[in-house]
Amino acid sequence: MSIKQKIDKLRDELRLHNYNYYVLDNPTISDYEFDVKLKELQELEDQNPQFYDSNSPTQRVGGEITKNFDTVAHKFRMYSLDNSYSKEDLLDWETRIKKIIDGEISYTCELKYDGASMSLTYENGELIRAVTRGDGTQGDDVTTNIKTIKSVPLKLKGDFPPQMDVRGEIILPLEGFKKLNEERLKNGEELYRNPRNTASGSLKLQDSGEVAKRPLEFLMYSVVGDNLSIDSQMQSLEKARTWGFKVPEEAKAVKTVDDILDYINYWDTQRHNLPYEIDGVVIKVNNFQQQDELGYTSKSPRWAMAYKFKAERVSTELKSISYQVGRTGAITPVANLEPVDLAGTTVKRASLHNADQIEKLDLRIGDTVFVEKGGEIIPKVIAVDLEKRTSDAVPTRYITHCPECQTELIRLEGEAKHYCPNYLGCQPQVIGRIEHYISRKAMDIDGLGGETVALLVKEGLIKDYSDLYDLTMEEVLPLERMAQKSADNLINGIAQSKHIPFERVLFALGIRYVGETVAKKLAKHYKTIDALKSASLENLIAIDEIGERIAESVTQFFANEHNLYSIEKLRSHGVQLQLSEDILANQTNKLNGDIFVVSGVFESVSRNELKKLIEDNGGKVGSSISSKTNFLIAGDKMGPSKRQKAENLQIPIISEQAFLKRLK
Ligand code: AMP
Ligand code: ZN
Repeated sequence: MSIKQKIDKLRDELRLHNYNYYVLDNPTISDYEFDVKLKELQELEDQNPQFYDSNSPTQRVGGEITKNFDTVAHKFRMYSLDNSYSKEDLLDWETRIKKIIDGEISYTCELKYDGASMSLTYENGELIRAVTRGDGTQGDDVTTNIKTIKSVPLKLKGDFPPQMDVRGEIILPLEGFKKLNEERLKNGEELYRNPRNTASGSLKLQDSGEVAKRPLEFLMYSVVGDNLSIDSQMQSLEKARTWGFKVPEEAKAVKTVDDILDYINYWDTQRHNLPYEIDGVVIKVNNFQQQDELGYTSKSPRWAMAYKFKAERVSTELKSISYQVGRTGAITPVANLEPVDLAGTTVKRASLHNADQIEKLDLRIGDTVFVEKGGEIIPKVIAVDLEKRTSDAVPTRYITHCPECQTELIRLEGEAKHYCPNYLGCQPQVIGRIEHYISRKAMDIDGLGGETVALLVKEGLIKDYSDLYDLTMEEVLPLERMAQKSADNLINGIAQSKHIPFERVLFALGIRYVGETVAKKLAKHYKTIDALKSASLENLIAIDEIGERIAESVTQFFANEHNLYSIEKLRSHGVQLQLSEDILANQTNKLNGDIFVVSGVFESVSRNELKKLIEDNGGKVGSSISSKTNFLIAGDKMGPSKRQKAENLQIPIISEQAFLKRLK
């Protein structure tokens, strides 16, 4: 046997033993024998570096240090899931689905593993990259760390697609969590709070050798990619199992909402017998073509739904109420609580939303309150335990003046929140707007963090985001904790932001109610900031999905002289205040606002490309056929009742080719 053959043989053997042990939970050799073989392989590899393979079983030991994790874009977005809490929610969901899908629907029910989501990219069966969810469009490259997790296959077995992303949850089983904490207790270290945080914290450890020591697991739940030759969710789970992934066996295919509820109820009581924590159940439309028809909202797939188990609830004392001022001037009251353990974390604060909430609960300082933790990070105060109220408790009087700048608060008709109107002089607002401007989804200015912004404002070096572009090295260097390198980064990052496209600049401006999606819509519609600036209220409202509230906020923003001044300053520094030339060149108004419904499978373009073409050319995409639909673009395998519906409403049905021709 040649050395290369020997190495290959050892690698294959070790891979199989890894799989038997960590995926099947069924080892066929002793740990000792395994270690001997691993050591043998390690020695052969050391002596013959020409046979190095980054996916060899020896790479699982870890030891490599990562100082900074690269940000990488997900080829396919990682969406979140809509939540449901009751039978009614699920029935509503079913009704929405049935409006879009003809024919029978079956669902898969899966457990909702409580850990950190992970996307693994495989090419020709080799693990290429592992990326955290991040904001859904981009995450951190944590490949080195993930390779140490033994249930993540580095090489796939069997018949797999050449290119795909495999998604799943990195979890820390309860047993392993307990062991880790026992170890920490012995060493006199602070204990970890819960398995989920420990799992997600592990992903970003700099020393992969440290990660290798933690008994993390990867539980697979989906495959994404083009041309996968997979028809359904259930099939993708089954196939992934044959490729070598750990796919929990509890997933189940069902047909009705009642079946779904049975599954939920069963696992709500049985979950405590699982080796890891779950926080609910995920229900997915099984058939991939139907999933495709249903598509996505801006946040989540229409074809999937999470069902969250009832939140845990505890009672504790309300010590005081404090008031926070946000970047828009909105005041948020916060309950300061006697610290209490809730669902694995210590809770000290809870959000109270607004004055009405306090009044409705009739919250009084000193009350014993019930606190609940839902999916959110910040827990909620649900009710007061009136039996425990003392006779001297006084009703809470909401503040009348801003806690930061003492300006009198206002409350607009129909709005739940109080606002501090001191737009230019209230420091949290000033700082908050700049922080928003530089944030990742906005101008993404590297090298500038929240603390530095606060410092720059307090030192009087900047008053708003447009001042960032005037900053000089001489001004920045003397600041506390500022070294040459970080000052370089800061100035550089600011200069780089001049390339950020218009739609993100528009989002960055921090116009109230103008989030990412609305900013995109407005940028697309008006194309330049000057056109948007001079748009009337009526003109704005006429745009699809722009309501009165948004329109008013936009006109108000541009009516403010200071904002106009900042915008001119941004312009003079070369910040993008209109769509770039090549985007403009690819956009037309040929479709004239016509509404298209897209259904079936297409030949020359994907469904998503088709939708983009429609939108880029001034058309709109409808999700189901109604009397408002102008055209139905029919692909292969379109459902018969959809066709029927279009015919009944006399909506023209056109082919993909006919549509593409119309664009040309
Ligand atoms: P949320 O973060 O509440 O929007 O829930 C979405 C997350 O649930 C996803 O990002 C996944 O990480 C996680 N998840 C856990 N189990 C599953 C599952 N079986 N299918 C899909 N997502 C799951
Ligand atoms: Zn104020």
